[in-house]
Amino acid sequence: MSTAIAPKAQIPDVAGQITYAMRSMGIAPIPRNYELFYEAYIGSNPALTRELAALGNSATQEELDTIGAKYFPQHAGRVFDDAHARLTVELDGVLRALKQEQTTLESYNRLLGETCERMSSRSHNSAELLRNAIDMLTTATGDTMAQGEKIVENVVQRSQEMDQVRKELDEYKRIANTDALTRLSNRRAFEDRLISIFDNQLTRPTTALVLADIDHFKRINDTYGHPVGDKILATVASIIRANVRREVFVARVGGEEFALIMEGVTAEEVTTVCERIRHSLETTPFKNSRTRVDYGPVTISLGVCMASETADSGELYNKADLALYCAKNAGRNCWNVYQESMQKDFTKSWLIYKN
Ligand code: GH3
Ligand code: MG
Ligand code: MG
Repeated sequence: MSTAIAPKAQIPDVAGQITYAMRSMGIAPIPRNYELFYEAYIGSNPALTRELAALGNSATQEELDTIGAKYFPQHAGRVFDDAHARLTVELDGVLRALKQEQTTLESYNRLLGETCERMSSRSHNSAELLRNAIDMLTTATGDTMAQGEKIVENVVQRSQEMDQVRKELDEYKRIANTDALTRLSNRRAFEDRLISIFDNQLTRPTTALVLADIDHFKRINDTYGHPVGDKILATVASIIRANVRREVFVARVGGEEFALIMEGVTAEEVTTVCERIRHSLETTPFKNSRTRVDYGPVTISLGVCMASETADSGELYNKADLALYCAKNAGRNCWNVYQESMQKDFTKSWLIYKN
């Protein structure tokens, strides 16, 4: 494995380049703009990079914020407020339309009642009375139908708008649960999913948590720089994803840490998957095709715990983490399944490592 430290001059001055680019484009040097340009610089999200590039040299703060809200969940608060306001307006409109419909129907009903009363009084010539009543009711029915059609049109239009807002909210929810660098689920989504394991007593006994942590990742960053580290992180994520079935939940839960939640499995089946991921990473070349620099091999250590061994999500996480620690302690580039004996053999040193 190549661990040689590159001369400092080869490490790009990312912050300097980004600040220079922002200044020359007249972009306000504020943290949220820097975050956008940083993402574009490292190229971890091609769609964001494309959208930012499309703004050219005259991007307004509003245009930058629109991209920020789309790609960074922490910027999305405003979007939710916006969606809430739009939904409130549309719902108000629907309520008003329905009230109007009620009023129209009430008038129509009153008219029917009055006509009926007049028809029962014998003071009029019955043929004339009938003609008048039919004329009145025909006009009133026509008006009521036209009014009803208008209201239906209005409600349909408003429900289309609400459907659009709902779709946008679904998209923001997806973004809020996705890690921008790796496109995997993020820590927030993982925590929800971890807790939900204990909601279903039928699936819980055959559910496993795997925690995985890239080995010596700090060295990669220190040697090749953070942007290269980020690209390696994204590649590792896609290798993990490619080695598990679609229904397996995969998340990036920390800097270079990943979590997998697998349902309907035995401990043996989980270790088969762990070995597949471990081997796949170890044998994947991490070479820069342009500079021919070889960043690899990149290896990973994994810890497994079955939910059946634990009473709640916290205990499951801690036990999988202890198994991961034991894998690191055993020399890295391997996996370990939680066993009760680890508690007494490793808990003390594990707690030090945790701190
Ligand atoms: P170990 O084998 O014990 O896990 O060693 P390690 O170096 O991987 O572990 P350590 O926890 O000491 O370092 C993790 C490093 O991950 C530190 C930090 O520089 C890096 N890191 C965390 N988040 C990111 C990120 O988003 N991008 C990049 N490039 N590096 C990150
Ligand atoms: Mg770590
Ligand atoms: Mg690590």
